[in-house]
Amino acid sequence: MSVSQHIDREQLVLYALQFLDPTENAEAREHLSDCRECRRELDRITGDLAVVALTAEMHSPPALARQRIAKQAARERRTVAPEPLGEASAGNYGSVLEPETRRNGRGRSVTGMVLGWLAAVAFAATSLYLYQQHSVLQQQVNDVKTRLQQANADADRAKMVYELLTDHTVMRSTLTKSVAGSWPTGRVSYLPETGSLLFIGMNLDPLPPHQTYELWLLPNDGREPIACGTFTPDTHGNANVVLPELQHDVNARTFAVSLEDQGGASTPTMPYVLTGN
Ligand SMILES: [Zn+2]
Repeated sequence: MSVSQHIDREQLVLYALQFLDPTENAEAREHLSDCRECRRELDRITGDLAVVALTAEMHSPPALARQRIAKQAARERRTVAPEPLGEASAGNYGSVLEPETRRNGRGRSVTGMVLGWLAAVAFAATSLYLYQQHSVLQQQVNDVKTRLQQANADADRAKMVYELLTDHTVMRSTLTKSVAGSWPTGRVSYLPETGSLLFIGMNLDPLPPHQTYELWLLPNDGREPIACGTFTPDTHGNANVVLPELQHDVNARTFAVSLEDQGGASTPTMPYVLTGN
């Protein structure tokens, strides 16, 4: 392939910026696939874009970049094109970017065009670079946000437990096996205002197979017992129910623990194995 048929640098810059029309783009791609020399030149241009991007400043959002480049291109074309300036109306950049006009303009003021394009190229490359930076930063901000939310949730929960253990308005209830004198006990701390509840069970009997303990709040207005969660004691007979989802402002007469089938029940199975005093 002869030198005269190589893609000139300006055209390669346009190619790198994807500003060629589909026909020119296909021609360029075809030539590049066969010509190592032009591929090297394209690599150099791409490298230049990256350097310009790293050193230039940008004052506009990326979304405007392409539009600006089109305007810049239109100005450049108009300066070098043989047609009178009036022919391309303002805003009708498509017409001045027609391949015909482009070919007329080529070679008349290559230096001027290249200088103009350098500005446009700097802008486009900078926009792209900053856009990528923006994406990376956005991801980092999202990560920090997620961790902060998790930390806040943990702190809120810890604060509620702390309130349950320290607040003097907390209702405390000790649950013992219905038959007096036995070991198993449960301690409940309950704050009606927030519906916060903490249950600590000790010396609980091991569960029969496929069964579970379930904690109940017995409202003092005589309503049906409210389920406060199921629990299974460990091998030492210890179990906790920490902050189950409960309505606010339900005053409790007492608490009780029943034995239920695995998964729990919506109404307690009598008799209770532990009841509040
Ligand atoms: Zn070539």
